Amino acid sequence: MHDVIVVGAGPSGSSSALFLTRRGLDVLIIEKKRLPRYKVCAGGTSRYIFELLDVPPECFDAFSIEKVKVCYGDRVKEYNLPSNSIFTLHRDQFDYRLTQLACQGGAKLVEGEETIGIEEENGSLTVKTNLGHKFRGRYLIGADGIGSKVARFIGGRFNYRVPLAIQKDIPYRNPEPAISLFMGLVSMGYGWIFPKNNTLSIGLGAYAFSPKKMPEVLSRLLKDFDHRDIPILAHPIAFYRGKKKLATRNIILVGDSAHITDPFSGEGIRNAVKSAKIAEETILECIKKNRPLSIYTEKLYSIMARELFLAWMISGVFYRFQDKIFNLMDRFDMGTILSNLLNEKTSYSQLLKKLLRIIPFGLL
Ligand SMILES: Cc1cc2nc3c(=O)[nH]c(=O)nc-3n(C[C@H](O)[C@H](O)[C@H](O)COP(=O)(O)OP(=O)(O)OC[C@H]3O[C@@H](n4cnc5c(N)ncnc54)[C@H](O)[C@@H]3O)c2cc1C
Repeated sequence: MHDVIVVGAGPSGSSSALFLTRRGLDVLIIEKKRLPRYKVCAGGTSRYIFELLDVPPECFDAFSIEKVKVCYGDRVKEYNLPSNSIFTLHRDQFDYRLTQLACQGGAKLVEGEETIGIEEENGSLTVKTNLGHKFRGRYLIGADGIGSKVARFIGGRFNYRVPLAIQKDIPYRNPEPAISLFMGLVSMGYGWIFPKNNTLSIGLGAYAFSPKKMPEVLSRLLKDFDHRDIPILAHPIAFYRGKKKLATRNIILVGDSAHITDPFSGEGIRNAVKSAKIAEETILECIKKNRPLSIYTEKLYSIMARELFLAWMISGVFYRFQDKIFNLMDRFDMGTILSNLLNEKTSYSQLLKKLLRIIPFGLL
């Protein structure tokens, strides 16, 4: 019997496995795809994540970003970023490298097998896969993304409408290390061009916007690139929309399966890794004190819920008044704000206090 079974080898599952193997636990990862697997994602990330993982960005071939350009129609505002604060990643490489590090630390990997059922008996769990295999574990971590089967098993009930993001990944040699964010394209969302090593990820994310109209809007960002044979890939985003049940006595949800993506930025990797860290601490504490894992829900929300809620509130104002907010951006150093938020050097509550002092509300 394994100490912990992790379902899903994305950033939340692989980092959970990495953290737990470092603590000497016997961990099994079950991933439905063969690795490395592609995941549609702009791959934007920050130094904070590498520090949390205790693995340097070079290990993931991360691409360091030096500038951010905020665009509205023909107008562009450019900001410098503090050096080595923001990076982009190819998700297939990042996720696979994390899984490899976990396996080097002793985790076992079963890939190409989908978890289709979970049974609980006498304090242990049995996970069944589509190939008819059964694996037994004391604890289970659901890291199986937005459509999580584990979340359904524990009755997490994430049944609200989820926003959609679409993207094309275009091969592009030596891109400029600058991310571009496009405002004013859709009512509740934004477009992006994220450079990565020899690739440009060009995408659009929105809620409350017709999915059918999204490719047409995206085509405006693609007009200067040869993208004819490259498919548009779509994936829902697991935005936070209020508290849910995230744990039972021996099961925990992390990352997108817990719906903890930042509703303002769409950034999900940071909270995926953060939730893995909280899962590690909770499991260790519960083993030591022989307590149920149920405390995880409260533990995670005590760290994340306030910020996620504020991000949700801010997004409601920001995306409704994009033209006015773009005009106000001259007053702020958006590069530092972005870098500080993503690196947790500032919080949404601190930012909001600052903004409320500066922004004349008559302008909105
Ligand atoms: C277009 C787009 C752009 C984005 N850009 C960014 C960005 O720039 N920065 C950022 O931080 N976030 C971004 N995100 C969000 C980010 O991609 C997710 O938050 C992140 O992938 C969550 O990681 P995860 O490990 O929880 O889930 P996932 O990455 O979805 O991993 C889940 C894994 O579980 C496996 N799995 C699923 N079901 C089963 C099963 N039944 N059995 C076994 N395995 C299973 C899947 O194959 C997958 O490998 C973006 C999302 C989209 C859609």
